[in-house]
Amino acid sequence: MSSSFAESKGKIIVESLIQTIAENKVYLSELDGAIGDGDHGINMDKGFGKAQKELSGKDVGLSESLQILGRILVDEIGGSMGPLYGTLFRRMARASKGETEIDALVIEKMLVSGLEGVQGLGNAQVGDKTLIDTLFPAVEAFRSCNKEGKPLNQCLDSLVEAAQKGKDSTIDMVAKVGRASRLGERSRGVLDPGATSCYLLLQSFAQAVQELIKE
Ligand code: ADP
Ligand code: MG
Repeated sequence: MSSSFAESKGKIIVESLIQTIAENKVYLSELDGAIGDGDHGINMDKGFGKAQKELSGKDVGLSESLQILGRILVDEIGGSMGPLYGTLFRRMARASKGETEIDALVIEKMLVSGLEGVQGLGNAQVGDKTLIDTLFPAVEAFRSCNKEGKPLNQCLDSLVEAAQKGKDSTIDMVAKVGRASRLGERSRGVLDPGATSCYLLLQSFAQAVQELIKE
């Protein structure tokens, strides 16, 4: 197990994210149907699918792949998700730009910058029943694991574990921002679609990195 991987090999991570969204498109829209307008999976898959087309055959590394995905989401996908996830991926692209090796500290920088971008744009806090309920604790768990000097592999496990807990915590929440907040108390009792897509994306990200550092 290595502690880093070559930036030039990182396109496969973005391809895994795209595949994860394609596989969960129906599920994510079903979740959104319960407390939103039922388009979350469709929205996400539209953007990620366009990114797949643009990436295919291109010899790009992690940073440029993330940049392409982020740009397409911001420019071409409506709803809440385009700008929010677009910002996340563009921030992650910028934080990894110019790095030849991606290690735990670069990943931390990417995640922290991405989280700040999403919070700066959407202004959601933990407890508002959004993707922040997944992203915030996941980034915190990764950061504190790094700080303790633990190996990257283990910190990725901590990231996923915290993301899952965060995602599950949205079931009992009442939505305070976004479309679902219009439902008030009626938004309680189901998973938040954005928190769920964010968990799936982080899980897929972690798994793809773990594969790369195994080699
Ligand atoms: P829309 O609400 O425009 O239909 P989507 O269905 O694609 O967009 O996405 C809904 C998800 O967006 C919610 O489940 C929530 O997690 C997330 N979301 C909404 N507003 C915000 C915000 N301000 N900050 C973070 N996430 C948000
Ligand atoms: Mg929706």
